[in-house]
Amino acid sequence: MSQAKAYAAFSAEKPLAPFTFDRREPRPDDVAIDIMYCGVCHSDLHFAHNDWGMTQYPIVPGHEIVGRVTSVGDKVTRFKEGDIVGVGCMVDSCRTCSACKDGVEQYCLEGFTMTYGSEDRQDGTMTQGGYSNKIVVSDHFVLKMPDGIDLASAAPILCAGITTYSPLKHHGVGKGHKVGVIGMGGLGHMGVKLAKALGAEVTVFTRSDAKVEEAKRNGADHVVVSGDQAQMDAVAETFDFMLDTVPVQHDLNPYLASLKYDGTHILVGLLEPIEPAIEGFNLVFKRRVVAGSLIGGIAETEEVLKLCADQGITCDVEMLDIQNINEGFERMKKGDVRYRFVIDMATI
Ligand SMILES: [Zn+2]
Ligand SMILES: [Zn+2]
Repeated sequence: MSQAKAYAAFSAEKPLAPFTFDRREPRPDDVAIDIMYCGVCHSDLHFAHNDWGMTQYPIVPGHEIVGRVTSVGDKVTRFKEGDIVGVGCMVDSCRTCSACKDGVEQYCLEGFTMTYGSEDRQDGTMTQGGYSNKIVVSDHFVLKMPDGIDLASAAPILCAGITTYSPLKHHGVGKGHKVGVIGMGGLGHMGVKLAKALGAEVTVFTRSDAKVEEAKRNGADHVVVSGDQAQMDAVAETFDFMLDTVPVQHDLNPYLASLKYDGTHILVGLLEPIEPAIEGFNLVFKRRVVAGSLIGGIAETEEVLKLCADQGITCDVEMLDIQNINEGFERMKKGDVRYRFVIDMATI
């Protein structure tokens, strides 16, 4: 065992506070990592507040982890001491089911082991995440960080980046496609950059006029203010894909009407029931599809890291000292961050 320093939530109501706990001794297939940076995801906030009713306290959030390898188990060949690596939303899965064999561990038939808030498959202890100075993870779930990538701003690629990249890749988005990105937060701004990198023509849909210039700065070819009916009418039946990053209930029908026949509307943010209901007409008459997608597999995550390194794509981040994490949470709730906080773990 080795002692780790962290910030943890101790209840749904109280702010995060310092916490010390034991990380396991590396098993033969484990990689021990000193954490340098950890991105702050909305899921961290939901988990700390027990919004999904599954949190066991104390919980150390954080699943956008970048760090340096300090030691590896006997069976590890992919990594060595000193390597710069990442850890995303998963730290284990069954590894034998069809999904795991297909490299989509996020859809493991037995359920994947989350980086925090899951029971470890071997010893049954609760996994604890990256708001911490160190972590121990099985080598299959450790990601190579490509040379030349800016490490702090790469951390959010491990969740926000892969969450938008995986469906774009799966649905074959590329040159000649028109993609709409709904919402301009942590996910949306990465969706714009990655859809552009894949060769698509990208339009951001936003509710506020204030975000038009911002969306263009992030590389959007066009911006549509979704509350402006004339602007919505002008883009009716023109899109191949919608990448919908909005995490709260919203009307999908106007966006479905913006898709061509055979168009696909991909949900990556919404976990609640769709409300208001989808008009069957909007699907049936144009053979349109509503799809969902969850993070991405391990191989695919290394792929998007490489793409970002090669094309100089970074997440826009604001650095945070761990002592200010509660203030960071408050600002995130208000949408007051462009677009991701990343904790500098040297401050712990
Ligand atoms: Zn996340
Ligand atoms: Zn599996």
